[in-house]
Amino acid sequence: MSLIVQKFGGTSVGDIDRILRAAQKTKAEIERGNQVAVVVSAMSGVTNQLVEYCDAITANHDSREYDSVVASGEQVTAGLFALALQAHGIKARSWLGWQVPILTDMQHGRARIVDIPTEELNVSIANGEVPIIAGFQGRTEDWRVTTLGRGGSDTSAVALAAALRAERCDIYTDVDGVYTTDPRVVSRARKIPRIAFEEMLEMASVGAKVLQVRSVTMAMRHRVHVQVLSTFADEIGSDLPGTLIVDEDEIMEKALVSGLAFSRDDAKVTLEGIHNAPGLAAAIFRPLSDAGIIVDMIVQDVATGNDAITNMTFTVGKRDLAQTIRIFEKAKSDKTVDYRAMYSENDIVKISAIGVGMKTHSGVALKMFEVLAEKGINIEVISTSEIKVSVLIKDEYTELALRALHTAYGLDAEEKIDAAQA
Ligand code: ADP
Ligand code: ASP
Ligand code: MG
Repeated sequence: MSLIVQKFGGTSVGDIDRILRAAQKTKAEIERGNQVAVVVSAMSGVTNQLVEYCDAITANHDSREYDSVVASGEQVTAGLFALALQAHGIKARSWLGWQVPILTDMQHGRARIVDIPTEELNVSIANGEVPIIAGFQGRTEDWRVTTLGRGGSDTSAVALAAALRAERCDIYTDVDGVYTTDPRVVSRARKIPRIAFEEMLEMASVGAKVLQVRSVTMAMRHRVHVQVLSTFADEIGSDLPGTLIVDEDEIMEKALVSGLAFSRDDAKVTLEGIHNAPGLAAAIFRPLSDAGIIVDMIVQDVATGNDAITNMTFTVGKRDLAQTIRIFEKAKSDKTVDYRAMYSENDIVKISAIGVGMKTHSGVALKMFEVLAEKGINIEVISTSEIKVSVLIKDEYTELALRALHTAYGLDAEEKIDAAQA
């Protein structure tokens, strides 16, 4: 008998009808002779609402209380899912993070799982009960509730699949797999039947929210078989042509560019007119690091003139922009970073092309620059890695740029021929 971990995301448990339908997937998997453990997200929209409640009191909240509030959405769905399974005649019970326990470090709001003792879950499963585990949450050693960062239920599911030595981790969501880009933005996006861990990791880390980044690293490290599939399609489990995440060498034909991703989560900051001397970058990025602010793209202009004046541009999360500005206003008055002017921009998007084929072929970046130039889109910042090229452009061009690049990289799905026209 194999154990399958099934994870249902927010839309999949968005209302009572959907919870009952999702529970049918669990029932069907049991009828195929498998054991199942379920991980659930909060109903769609609930976590956003809970975050808004916290923000409405203060933007600078006590992250331990923030976690206690935002973790509550998953408690509701875990209970409801257990009730739905019971209504389908299946023994089930809910488990909160602290009850399992899912033990994490103390980084509230973005905690990392450190251990999942599975003795009690195993007893429950052996007794023929389906455990319904609240995703996204855990507890610290000193019994405070933690959350794993937005989208964290994916990570809960993969971590549980690893801890329970599950045969597979099925991520049920509102699309039927991982696509060449977000199918809600580019209608000609194509489903990718098999994607390499490394590509999935890169796609997720530059904005493809279909899987949380950490869930992919965890799956890679613990060799968990992950499959992304639709809650709303009728088939279940491995019969469904969803997306399997596999080792690079299991993919016969390596696409030069396998996907495009975008992120509107970042803001751009420029410090203009700074004297370039040894230690400049450290002086700029140390206070950000001390404040736990993650910096993504960084560009330093070539210093010019006798006094070597330069500019530093970088991106931080939109949520961290206000704090970043405060940090550099203080740094200017303390004279720890002496710049002439600071500018920031919120209306930007980062667009990235990803593909393991880039390791061996050139021209991907050039094509991106040419396509954007043809469309009259200005590139503000560029960054590259072994299997990725990213550019920062104005947000208003997101769809235009994605569609043009999708076509240029040969990613478009074949157009469906209307039978009536044929
Ligand atoms: P869940 O609530 O099930 O966790 P998410 O909203 O977190 O679902 O992730 C699924 C969404 O990810 C899809 O609805 C889709 O809009 C978006 N998405 C972004 N990039 C991709 C991609 N490359 N392939 C599939 N979906 C993507
Ligand atoms: N409910 C959490 C969120 O909205 C976790 C998740 O859905 O994965 O971020
Ligand atoms: Mg998600």
